[in-house]
Amino acid sequence: MTPQDQLNELSKNLWWSWNPDALTLFTRLNRHAFQSSRNNPLMALKYAKRDALEDPYVIEQIDSVYRKFRRYMDEPGGQEAGPRVSYFCMEYGLHESMPLYSGGLGILAGDHVKAASDVGLPFTAVGLFIREGYFRQYFDEQGRQHDDYPAIDVTNHAVELVTDENGRAIVVTVHSGDEPIHLRAFRLQVGKSTLYLLDSDFSENPYWIRFLTRRLYQGDRITRLQQEIILGIGGLRILKALGVETDVYHMNEGHCAFLSLELLNDALASGMNLERASKHVREQCVFTTHTPVPAGHDRFAPEQFNWAMSTMRRELGMDERTMLSFGRVNADDDAEEFTMTILGLKLARAANGVSKLNGEVARRQWHHLYSDRSVDEVPISHITNGIHLPTWASPASRTFLRVNLGSWTNDREKQSTWDRIDEVSDANLWEYRRKLRQNLIDFVNRQVQHQTLPQKSLLNPRALTIGFARRFATYKRAPLLFSDVDRVADLFSKYERNIQVIYAGKAHPKDEGGQAFIQQIYELSQRAEFKGRLIFLENYNMEIGRMLVSGCDVWLNNPRRPYEASGTSGQKIALHGGLNLSILDGWWPEGYDGSNGWAIGHEASHEIKDPEIQDAEDAEFLYRTLESEVLPLFNKRGEDGLPKEWISMIRSSIRSLTYQFSAHRMILDYVNDMYREPVGEVV
Ligand SMILES: *Cc1c(COP(=O)(O)O)cnc(C)c1O
Repeated sequence: MTPQDQLNELSKNLWWSWNPDALTLFTRLNRHAFQSSRNNPLMALKYAKRDALEDPYVIEQIDSVYRKFRRYMDEPGGQEAGPRVSYFCMEYGLHESMPLYSGGLGILAGDHVKAASDVGLPFTAVGLFIREGYFRQYFDEQGRQHDDYPAIDVTNHAVELVTDENGRAIVVTVHSGDEPIHLRAFRLQVGKSTLYLLDSDFSENPYWIRFLTRRLYQGDRITRLQQEIILGIGGLRILKALGVETDVYHMNEGHCAFLSLELLNDALASGMNLERASKHVREQCVFTTHTPVPAGHDRFAPEQFNWAMSTMRRELGMDERTMLSFGRVNADDDAEEFTMTILGLKLARAANGVSKLNGEVARRQWHHLYSDRSVDEVPISHITNGIHLPTWASPASRTFLRVNLGSWTNDREKQSTWDRIDEVSDANLWEYRRKLRQNLIDFVNRQVQHQTLPQKSLLNPRALTIGFARRFATYKRAPLLFSDVDRVADLFSKYERNIQVIYAGKAHPKDEGGQAFIQQIYELSQRAEFKGRLIFLENYNMEIGRMLVSGCDVWLNNPRRPYEASGTSGQKIALHGGLNLSILDGWWPEGYDGSNGWAIGHEASHEIKDPEIQDAEDAEFLYRTLESEVLPLFNKRGEDGLPKEWISMIRSSIRSLTYQFSAHRMILDYVNDMYREPVGEVV
């Protein structure tokens, strides 16, 4: 095999996205082409410099990385005999060069696919080929957000059209009303897992249908409904056309739940009556719900649903009411909308939320569906989200972890691996943190030169660095820290060059509240009190995320309770020895132990308070924690110049959180608690 062949094969498997040796290799081929394409290996390869390809050292590197890749692909991960899983999700966050995601749901799905590959589970994922992504964020002079939609060029990405043996695209058809929607698929290889991305954007479809798979979470209700028909029904039809065999279908969030209706269609066609067919579908499906936010659950007006699903309804041989009943609490209520989450819950044998608290919240949220049971008996359990550690560990931290913890990637699920952090000296640990912070600041200084939002950086590599980056949905309350501007200004003046805050995040193009939050932060960043030390980074993506979670000392998370289902960015910060300062919502009540970060506000609760009261209480709590704990502790130095107590919190954060909140633990939980055949009777 020539080095060129090896490179070609490497570039076509997203294994590279969590293997820095591979990424370094592609950087060597053409640094500029790589970096200016959001770190896309195919662009580095396309514009590879001849002298690089002829350099014996590079050739040796290619061979070494290639052999590592083959070893990964050939070595068993332990779950090869596990159930064959087909996993459906609307979005996937796999790498910044493939913007098929908007936020936490997609990132989680991407990490799930990678973890499934690591353990060797027979795993096929299905999504949409959202070639214009969510959107690219830029700004005007007033700091107002604008959106634009650069499209992925298939020839420059590791996607491959799915064809038959004659090289012709495999096409399946679904219907919106009577109108056919033809779908083809692109294949994306993620380690040992395969992801099929459905695409309607080709010449067999009229313009308005071609548009359907281009953008994520945009357009009107009908567009959403059609996208979900494509994902659920089209996705299953593609798998059938390819002969992919499945033991369990995982519906990850409600968007894809129509897949259960297509399974029902098959069961009815095989001659079962409706009751048996429904039971048969339930035996094959599991469902995960990801949000307590009502707007996060797709609901469709009965007329819209009846219109769009008319062909499917004829195929099922059902009347409108019967079909609607699968997505309704009350089958007899003609006004009730069709809810995708209800469909998922009704046609799955098992369901889960994504943290312990979210499980409780979801049981309350959907209790009305199970009125003959108590809240505790609502059949929704939980599996807490985790992160794919190799994806999120920054290059500097990989070196540090390898030197100090040994083979941490192989033993990442063992607590004893992370206990070894106690053997690292205070001085080493602090130097490591300084280096990560410096890397972040270098990155920020480069970023601000290229962004449309004018930001001046006076960041100090020794200052306490607070990070806040996530979608700017209003319930996440991005500007809570600035609810009393004078009080924060006092803090900034008291600690002078020793405190700094970095923000990033996109607000949905229709979310004016979220956009106003960004503008507010931008305006604050222009004030003398904060200038250069309060920075907004534009166009939040996985690369910016990776840099922030490695370099920030404190990760601020202050959603309005109990709307955070899990959150995973705080888990990424713990891996790097950062400390969480968070509301006890989502995963944090399970992670927080009093020594590994801070809790804002009172203990976890599923009660919903008057938002104004909660905001004021939480802001007060946040200020007090910053004033009396976070800042004093960071600045309390011993004779050796080291903040002993802070360093002890760093150890605690790494030791107690990393092994638990990893996608490795998560995928095994899914295998054992959800994917395997349930013992006993199906509910
Ligand atoms: C980790 C991550 C998320 C999800 O984290 P949250 O804590 O839910 O915000 C979203 N976007 C990016 C780019 C991420 O890296």
